[in-house]
Amino acid sequence: MTNSQRLMDTLKEAGMRLTHQRRVICDYLATTDAHPTAATIYEALKPGLPSLSLMTVYNTLNTLAELGAIQVIGQAGDDTVHYDSDTEPHINLVCNDCQKIEDYPSPYIRNLEQAIDAGSGFRIQGARLVFYGLCPECQVKRQSKSNKA
Ligand SMILES: [Zn+2]
Repeated sequence: MTNSQRLMDTLKEAGMRLTHQRRVICDYLATTDAHPTAATIYEALKPGLPSLSLMTVYNTLNTLAELGAIQVIGQAGDDTVHYDSDTEPHINLVCNDCQKIEDYPSPYIRNLEQAIDAGSGFRIQGARLVFYGLCPECQVKRQSKSNKA
């Protein structure tokens, strides 16, 4: 099953009608690894879907997030909520300067989940791990700025 199909099935299970707009939103989420915000998705899809409203994007994202089909990463220092359609355990790296969010796959996370699961009695269903720092490009930018000063 594709990631997009998984998202659409989730909406169907939630009792939402699978409109063309919602299908396009699911396809977009399934094919991006850019951790979009609602506004990013809206702006990317609006040219092809002139009748799309930001509210439809929000509603679709909220439903998918509530049902655990996508993850809410929260804001990346830009006061905007980002979403991630990859629900496998992984680390998100957030750049404090350009607000880029990258995935960092790590086998430690799965091991950590299993250890917490076994130690706490909780059945862990997900995790949100965000590390903040400076991406390589922004480190170079800062370096060249301080050299000039
Ligand atoms: Zn950066």
